[in-house]
Amino acid sequence: MFKLYNTLTRQVEEFQPLTDNTVRMYICGPTVYDFAHIGNFRTFLFGDLLRRYLKYKGYKVHHVMNITDVDDKIIQRAVALKMTLREYTDQYTDLFFQDFDALGAERPEEVLRATDHINEMVEIVQRLTANGHAYESEGSTYFRINSFPTYGRLSNMNFEGNVAGASERVDADEYDKESVRDFVLWKAAKPDEPSWETTIGTGRPGWHIECSAMSMKALGETFDIHAGGIDLVFPHHENEIAQSEGATGKSFVKYWVHSEFLLAEGQKMSKKLGNFYVVRDLIEQGHTPRAIRYLLLSAQHLKQFNFTMDGLKGAETVVARLNDFKVRLHELTPEAGETAALGELVWRTRKDFETALDDDLNVPAALGALHDFVRETNSAIAASTIKASDQKALIELVDCIDSVFGIFGELKKGFLDADIQALIDERQAARKAKNFARSDEIRNQLTEMGIVLEDTKEGVRWKRK
Ligand SMILES: [Zn+2]
Repeated sequence: MFKLYNTLTRQVEEFQPLTDNTVRMYICGPTVYDFAHIGNFRTFLFGDLLRRYLKYKGYKVHHVMNITDVDDKIIQRAVALKMTLREYTDQYTDLFFQDFDALGAERPEEVLRATDHINEMVEIVQRLTANGHAYESEGSTYFRINSFPTYGRLSNMNFEGNVAGASERVDADEYDKESVRDFVLWKAAKPDEPSWETTIGTGRPGWHIECSAMSMKALGETFDIHAGGIDLVFPHHENEIAQSEGATGKSFVKYWVHSEFLLAEGQKMSKKLGNFYVVRDLIEQGHTPRAIRYLLLSAQHLKQFNFTMDGLKGAETVVARLNDFKVRLHELTPEAGETAALGELVWRTRKDFETALDDDLNVPAALGALHDFVRETNSAIAASTIKASDQKALIELVDCIDSVFGIFGELKKGFLDADIQALIDERQAARKAKNFARSDEIRNQLTEMGIVLEDTKEGVRWKRK
């Protein structure tokens, strides 16, 4: 039984899809005004884990992600650079997906761009105006908060004091709880800003209406899971509920799932503090995407997580060890037969792994089960007790667990770290003995294996290409 904490009910609930076996899930995507940082990627990798585990559980997943390619920040930057919105946002969308793919996140079934769905947004605004939830003022259209009595339910705030007789309005896409007001659905065109001519006037959409329009278009008026970072609970998701349910009169989403904040080196990330980590920079510095993925996934999503360079170094060691383990397991050439103890190990690990993830995606416990399994299997390898049927079952379990975590890496057959080091040592010895033919031969062999050598003061270092 898979249980998830639902922000809306503030309870851990048993997950039951609304219809048949398909899970319809929407995860708020990036606002493509700059590089996404590792805090953003914590959320996207959490979404990736959720979709992979749903698939592991046997559900079919229809996962939709939006690209916010029009908002206050994007417009400011594009206008300053004299670029069209598309030119400006295309480059950051491409860069975003490069990082997304590098981190091993599976692409959603649908990726939708806000500016491709202006008509759908206009239609919702019209419905809201027709049923009294929205009104026009100076060319813009606003949501009337006091027409929607359950406003504040998701963020668990009582806005009554602020809302009663609210005549003040907020035009910004982002604002805090203190400035709750009637929020903007459609913004009147301003000179020098991109705008669309529509039946509700010339202008552009507010941020929140985008996600209501795209999610309901792709998944229907009521769907299973809506996820995102915790910072989106208010106002973004609160406003999405008001707009969507205000327009349809139906319940919008069954499970609201949020991942907590990420700190870097113990503090909120900021460019000033030098702890503003961007995935591509980390990769350029030589960190592997798999280690970044491992570290960002390693905490339970409802817990704040502190990302540190020390932690990343540790993750690097862990994923290298996991890959070596996988290679070693494949390279065994055991005799036929099976061992009861290993059958029991496979059964117990699978059970512990599932029990942990069923419990609101308790990743630390699931990784604990995995590391215990690796340790015990390594002992069995050392003791040569693994038989052919055991090997098959052990490999199957690794693949099964990795369909969810994606941290073991590709199988590079034929060499372990220890083999590589032995070749490097032999090459050093050959060079010392001035046997350059042999030293070149080894260098070529390493190149063919995809190993890059670097001569440093501390000696020869190597890495996989
Ligand atoms: Zn959204």
